[in-house]
Amino acid sequence: MTAARCRACRRALRRPSEDGYGPVCRRRLAPSPGPTPGHTDRPEPGPGQTAIPVPAHQPSLWSL
Ligand SMILES: [Zn+2]
Repeated sequence: MTAARCRACRRALRRPSEDGYGPVCRRRLAPSPGPTPGHTDRPEPGPGQTAIPVPAHQPSLWSL
């Protein structure tokens, strides 16, 4: 019994793929299908807009 593994992350594959990559890594490594008009992955914040504030430090069990 040979366990097929992703050649990128070595994760066991449920079914071996022809290129040796798992579905996740193949999607990650695949070239983007192309720019979609009017849509970008990360829209730039316009004037007056601010990015979502991320607290620099959140107290957690590990910091106490
Ligand atoms: Zn993988």
